[in-house]
Order: sequence, then C-alpha cells, then structure tokens
Amino acid sequence: MSSSGFASQNGAGATYANGLSQNPVALYPSNQGYMTPPQPGYLNAMPAKAPTPPAPSCYNPSRQQPSPVAMSQHPLSLPSSPNHRPALVPPAHTPPLTNSFYQQHPQQPPRWPPPAVNHASPALISTPQQPYSTGTSTPLVFQNTMQSPAPLPPYSALNNTHMPAAPALNIVAPHTHHSFGKPPAALRGTPPPSGPPPPLVTHNDAGPYSAQPGAMNRLMGTAYPSLQPAYQSVPTPQKPPHMQPAAQPYSTAAAPQYQQPTVSAAQLGPSLAALNLQSQMPEALRVVNLLQERSLLPPGAVTPPTPCLPQDLQRLNCSPEVFRCTLTSIPQTQTLLNKAKLPLGLLLHPFKDLSQLPVVTSSTIVRCRSCRTYINPFVSFLDQRRWKCNLCYRVNDVPEEFMYNPVSRSYGEPHKRPEVQNATIEFIAPSEYMLRPPQPAVYLFVLDVSHNAVETGYLDVVCQSLLDNLNSLPGDARTKIGFITFDSTIHFYNLQEGLSQPQMLIVSDIEDVFLPTPDSLLVNLSECKELVQDLLRSLPQMFSKTMETQSALGPALQGAFKLLSPTGGRVSVFQTQLPAVGAGALKPREEPSQRAAVKDVQHLSPATDFYKKLALDCSGQQIAVDLFLLSAQYCDLASLGCISRYSAGCVYYYPSYHNHHNPSQTERFQKDFKRYLTRKIGFEAVMRIRCTKGLSIHTFHGNFFVRSTDLLSLPNVNPDAGFAVQMSIEENLLDMQVVSFQAALLYTSSKGERRIRVHTLCLPVVSSLSDIFAGADVQAVTALLASMAVDRSVSASLSDARDALTNAAIDSLTSYRTSVLTIQQPGLLSPACLCLFPLYILALLKYKAFRTGTSARLDERVFAMCQLKYQPLAYLMLMVHPALYRVDNMTDEGALNINERTVPQPRVLQLTVEKLSGDGAFLMDHGTVLYLWIGRNCSPTFLTQVLGVQSYAAVPQNMKQLPELDTTESSRIRAFIDWLREQRPFYPILHIIKDESELKAEFMHNMTEDRTESALSYYEFLLHLQQQISK
Ligand SMILES: [Zn+2]
Repeated sequence: MSSSGFASQNGAGATYANGLSQNPVALYPSNQGYMTPPQPGYLNAMPAKAPTPPAPSCYNPSRQQPSPVAMSQHPLSLPSSPNHRPALVPPAHTPPLTNSFYQQHPQQPPRWPPPAVNHASPALISTPQQPYSTGTSTPLVFQNTMQSPAPLPPYSALNNTHMPAAPALNIVAPHTHHSFGKPPAALRGTPPPSGPPPPLVTHNDAGPYSAQPGAMNRLMGTAYPSLQPAYQSVPTPQKPPHMQPAAQPYSTAAAPQYQQPTVSAAQLGPSLAALNLQSQMPEALRVVNLLQERSLLPPGAVTPPTPCLPQDLQRLNCSPEVFRCTLTSIPQTQTLLNKAKLPLGLLLHPFKDLSQLPVVTSSTIVRCRSCRTYINPFVSFLDQRRWKCNLCYRVNDVPEEFMYNPVSRSYGEPHKRPEVQNATIEFIAPSEYMLRPPQPAVYLFVLDVSHNAVETGYLDVVCQSLLDNLNSLPGDARTKIGFITFDSTIHFYNLQEGLSQPQMLIVSDIEDVFLPTPDSLLVNLSECKELVQDLLRSLPQMFSKTMETQSALGPALQGAFKLLSPTGGRVSVFQTQLPAVGAGALKPREEPSQRAAVKDVQHLSPATDFYKKLALDCSGQQIAVDLFLLSAQYCDLASLGCISRYSAGCVYYYPSYHNHHNPSQTERFQKDFKRYLTRKIGFEAVMRIRCTKGLSIHTFHGNFFVRSTDLLSLPNVNPDAGFAVQMSIEENLLDMQVVSFQAALLYTSSKGERRIRVHTLCLPVVSSLSDIFAGADVQAVTALLASMAVDRSVSASLSDARDALTNAAIDSLTSYRTSVLTIQQPGLLSPACLCLFPLYILALLKYKAFRTGTSARLDERVFAMCQLKYQPLAYLMLMVHPALYRVDNMTDEGALNINERTVPQPRVLQLTVEKLSGDGAFLMDHGTVLYLWIGRNCSPTFLTQVLGVQSYAAVPQNMKQLPELDTTESSRIRAFIDWLREQRPFYPILHIIKDESELKAEFMHNMTEDRTESALSYYEFLLHLQQQISK
C-alpha cells in the first residue's frame, strides 16, 4: 500500500460501490465492504462522465493509455515520486522517504497528473453499473419522479452528462438509463408556444443585470449585426479599444457594424490568450529565490489570480469566492498538465450566502439540447435565433420567450437576458413542471440524554438556543419538527395538537426500533409550537437525575430514519460518548500512547460500515444527518462521521465540552448552533458539474453521495459547505481558446420552491508550461492537495500522505526549474505566483490532520481531516495558515472606511516567534478562533487604553472580550476584530492569552515557520526541497 499513489484510493475495496473513482472517501479497505448483492464492484471504475468508446483519433497516440486497472487507480489521485527521497523529519531521525503524492503504483505507468479516466476497454464500459449500488431497496424519490411521463425539467435537468446524450445513455448502465429518461419535450427544443411574453419576474433587479440603455456595450463572440451589445450590463469605465490590447479581438463588437465571420467564444483569435498573458506575466512569473526572499506574504489577504481573459469576458466571470480552479490557465493537453506537476481541479462554495443574487422566474429555462448546459454568459449567439453551447458546441435555437428582455421590457435582445449577463444566477423552476410538491422543511433533533451527556450541561444550551430561534428556523407554514432522545433506550415525543403536554413514548427494544405513533411524532411547527416549547423547557430537567450511562446511538438513528423517510429532511444528532449498545456499537480504538506517533496513525478509517450504510439509506430518502460531537472522551469520529459524510450532512466537534469546566467551548457551540439553526438550507438537492468537452471529472471531495458520474446527491445543502473536484484532460483542447465549467445546484428552498442555482466559470486554454505556471492559484492548489492527502491518509497511510504533500512541492518546482526557466541560477527558485507553495505545504504538514510527533487526539485529527474536505477554501486556508497581526501599534494609515467606521489594516506577519516581541500585542486569526497574545512587557498604554487594566499581571485569565473603552486604541482594535468577524458567517471566539495561559501552546503551535522537536523549520524545509530538486 505504501508504494501506491493517490490512485490507490480509487481502486481499493472491491465491495464498495459508491461511485468508485469519484468518491475516494468511500473507499476503505475491502474488509469493511458492504455485503450487497452481486454487482459491479470496482472493476467497473466509473469514469466521471459517461464513458465514450475510445476514439483513436481523439487522443494523442503518444499519451499513455491507462490500463483498465489504472482506470480505477487514478494517478492524479496522488502523484508519486522517486523512492529515493529522504524522509522529511528533523535531522535527528531520518528514515527513508519512500513515497510521494504523485507516487506511481507499480502497475501503473503515469504518475501525475492523471491520464484520461475514460477510455476503458469496451468490456468494462459495458459492465452494468448501478448508480445506487448500496444494496438498499429503497427507491429514490428522484427516480420515481423522473419515470413519470410528466415533464419535469428541474429533475431531468440533471439527467444528462455533458457528452451528447444518446451515446452516454447507451453506455451507462440500464439502471441509469431507466431512471434518467429523456428530457421533457419542452426542454428538448420543441418550438415554444407563441403568444404574449411569458411571465418573467426578476428579483433583485438593481443587481447585475440592470443594463444601462445608453452604455457602450460589447458583443462577445458573435457576429450578428442586429444584436445589441451583450455581455455587459454593469456600467464600467470604458477605455478606448486601443487601451485594451487584451480585448482587441472583440473591439469590433463595440462598433455598430458586425462584419467579421462568426466566431464562438472558444474560437477567439489565437493571439488573445497570449496578449493577455503578456500583461500578467512579469509578476506571476517573476523568479523568486525562496532561500533569499523571506518576506513573501502579501501585506493583506492573498488574492486569487485573475484569469487571463479579455476584460469583457472576465468581468462576467464567476466570483472566485464561489468557483475557483487550481490552474486559471488550462493546459491544452494532459501531457502538458503532467509536465507541470500541478493538480487540476475546482474548488466550489456553491451555496454561499450572497448579498446579490439574480433570481429569475421563467417558464422556459434555456438549456443546451445536447448536454443540458444552462445558457450562460459564455455561449455565443450566432444570430438572434441561435446560440452555440460553450460546453459541447451544439447550436441551439433561442426559444421565443427568451427573446423578451425583462430589463428593457422589449423584444429581440436575447443576449441581454439576465441568464447571459450573470455567471451566477438562480432560477425558480416553473411549478407546472413539478410532479409532486417540493418537500416541506423538516427538522428532527436527536439528543443524547445519557448520564454523561446530561452532566456536560449541553442539553440546556441546545434547548435554550432552540427556544430562542424557533421562529427563525428557515421554513414556512408547512415546516415540521420532531424530537428523539436516547440513552440505552429510545424516547419519542408525541406532540400532537390538542395534547395538554408532550407525551414521552419509550421504545426499549433497540434491536427492532419501531415508531410508536408514527403520525404524531413529527408535527407542524406553527400548529404545535406551544407543545414544542413546553418540551424544550422541560427536557433538561427530565433527565437531570438519570443514572443511565449507555448510548444506543445506532438504534436512535434508525428510528430517525424511519420517522423522516416519508418526507426527507434534516436530522441533527447530539452525541457525547462512544455508542456502546445496539446496532452500530463501537469499541474504543485509540491508544493514548500513540497520539504522538512519529510515523503512522492507526484507525483513521471506520470500524464498521453501519454508519455509512445508514447514511446511504438516508441519502436515498433525502435525509441528511448532521453530527454534533460534544465529548471529553474518544468517540470514534472516524466511524461516526460516515453518517454525515455520505448523507451530505456536516460534523461539528467540541472536544472536552462542558458547560462549566470549559466555557469557551460552550460559547463556541452556542454561536455555531445559532448559525446552524438560522442559516439557509436547501432540501432534496443534487449538484451536477459539467465542463467543456475534452475535460472530465474524476474525483469529488466533500460530503455527499455520488449518484452518477457527475451528479452528487445532497439531501441537504447549506451555505457553509465546500466541495472540491479533481479534473483531467481527456481530449486535447487544441482548437479552443477558452473552456467553461458549470455547476448546477437544484434544491428545494425552505419555502418550498424548487430552485436551480447555476455558476459558470470560463478559463483560457494555454499551450506553454510558463503560461500554466503563471496562472497557478496557490491556495486552490494547496486546498485540493489537502483533500487528496486526506484520502491518501485513509487509503494508504499518514506517512504516505505526508510524503506526497512534500513531493507535490518538489515535483512542481522541479518542473518549473527544468522546463520553464531558461537561465539557470542557484537557489530554490519559484515563480512568484507559487512562492507561498512550500510554506503552505509545510503548514499542512504541521496541521493537526497530518502532523506527527506531536500529541493529537485521534478524534481531533479525524475532525481536522473532515474540515479539510468540507470547508470552503477561504476558511480552510486560515485554519491551515492563520494570519498574524501586530495590534498594539496600529495606525489609520491605509485603513478602510466602511460605513463611516475606520478599520485599520495592520500588515500580515510571518508565523514565527521572530515576529513576536514581548513589548507588543499580537492577534492571530485562525478562522474559527482569534487569539490575542499580550506580551509580558506590553506597553502600559495598550494595557490601559485597550484592556482597561493597569498592569500585565492584572490581565485576567480566560479573558474573552475587549472592554468597550472610549479611546482611539480601543476603537481601532475593536473595529478591526469586528471587521474580521463580519467576513465570515460563523462567529470566531476571541481568546486573550498571556504567557501563563493554557492556550499559549495552541497559539505557539501555529508558528509554522519555526522548528519544533518533531518538525522542520520553514528554512530547513526549503533546504530539503532544494536538495531534492537539484538532484
Ligand atoms: Zn451543450
């Protein structure tokens, strides 16, 4: 195992069938497989999109064609490295480093990045393949709906791959074919009904598509003379064309006449990309000798690179906060990508809270007839009646209704529609397309009430928060709610309207859990609110004297599944100990003596498949399970976490939780829980990711179930969930100037509306290595590698994953040195855009998920791994590499002015004790936590003006709030901290720490650049890299 690459995760464990190549998390060693009926196991490696038969002419013959085995062992999965690299440990112990991310499997020729996944042998392709191969007999709601004859666009919308429909459907298993039928006629290009303009409501129309009638607009990629300017709705200062070399190929569009021949966005002038690159090259590709330049951190946040597209196109592009690619310039061929040794993938935050989101109601949602892509800013209009798909290049008709422009309320301006003006847009699916009503918001709370749980006091917090926020739960008049409590038995609560008080119903047969009164356990919230409030007020006392110590979590979850199966919904589980009785019982596996293991850590994979199986059953019924783990002891999160991972839930973990003994955890839990209860939620969701022909998806990261090749099943979706996708280049993109990616998230809102949120990202295609490097997004690369490393830790070993991370840095910098640099010079050389790469890799190696030699509880490590796979990029980066600021001497220089508030902008400092000084105060932003460290000799001014104390000794222990003092210093730092907090949806807790504080160790542990007993300093790490590179 240790010699295998990232790939191994895709091939291990023949009995799992959760979308093989897409969902590596699923793939634990086969001894935990599902004993499902005979079905295609891993042999049937599922390519990310419907496989097409090999077409020799499409592929570069010189490229290595993966064998069928290699297909399921995707090399990109983890690049490998030569086996001779030395281990990356401090000089004291130096076992040989045998492995890397991009390590090659012995049977597998290519290392990194992946070869095309798809070209399986015909035999493999024809193997029947079940999207739901979990052995559950429960039919999925979507299947049922889709088999109906009634048109159902939002559902069927998801049924196609981005390959032409017919061959794809023929190849995919009968099951898939069966359930994902033809798109409804209305969406297959049937001529739209004529008549008056369709009702089209736009909300938010102060938003991006308030086109300015008189503005000089540009038409991109189209040559139709009568079309008015498209692709531009926001007023932006226009430079004369000659000032925009990058946009020159489009400059004709500004002129009233359009006489050039038709071009699509993908066939822009060849000089286009080059012109653009030139303007960015100098800085991104500036050669940096990492051994000499120490201060590489920018003064503020690291910003993502801007794709080198013409301004007209880039202005319409998807926000990097929602959709980012590791390489903002896509390599033309897989061979080129292999050479760069950088991973290709997407980072998504698809349901992010947005301040401005164009929402469209229309009876016709315009999509490509062939690949079902939603019309977007990067399609091209051939004329007023035809548009060309930017993913499959099919020419489609423009439906009559689309000719009406809701902004100007006039006809004949299809290119001015909000759909072609916004890369992020939401559609409200027309109601006549729905067969059954969208599900109501359903919330079920499952609470541990064993002695251990009650003792922590968490029940008070949960019940009080629920009482406080009951009216803020997203929903409408149909919202339902229910409660289950459990210890060694399961307790249901009859909350039926008319009862004088809630009725507790105890089910003690945990071997065969049944619902005592199925119809009155889940009740309408508005009708039964008083009973619900009664229950919440009495629950904490009901169990205060309990002597019951056992936890039957598994049976409680089975009860929850039964209760929610008819509707779907959200289950929130609170667990405080290792479940010991009934189905899913677990045994302690952690050995405290192994917490500081120097090399490998055991038990990162689940001990039982019970939770995964149940999660997949839940997923089939549109139920997501969110897990709140509040515990002082080992709970086996590696096993329990599966219940959330595969049902698209989320995991929260509060180690050493106790209301009285650990007030800071309690505060954090309170804040998190409030956000959890009140944030937006989407039900019965699915997300499909499409990309331009030639590109393909081969692995997804995040919490979901892979339902079919490019379709994720998300019973719930929340605004704090991130996803990552690894991509490969299957067919050379030789004739293309740009490629596009589209993520479509179909969900039911808490108000019962079926909605589709669509994000489209457009990126240039380049043919040279230097262009690829110039477009590298170092944070996105780091985040994708982190997800890959989590998979590797589980499928192979922690040391494998660590080596692979290190080798990712070595391999890419080697490639840069040997293939891009023309003049060799001494030192460790990096292009400026990747200069933080080694630092981030080192930060990952020191992060709780991957660190060795330093004590880390197993559950905390597993939780850190969950976070890496689930957190959106921005928060993930702060967890891995926090931002450090000196705050005792802030000035207003460079300050922001927000709503008449001055927000100082102190410089981000390197994470090293060298930057700390005893006479200062330093703020560390760790994402979910803020630390304010006060130096022992901190100036008296700061102590009095900010902390309100006379001396260092008088600073209280466990101080968590800054007093509101009427001083400049106080308002500055509070404005800064408030500003940091406002930028994220959750509420980071502040810890004010002194040298004596317990949390000082936590704070110091984040000093990534310093050497510790078990880890290299940044400089030593650079030397190690240099040594490997110059070999
Ligand atoms: Zn298409």
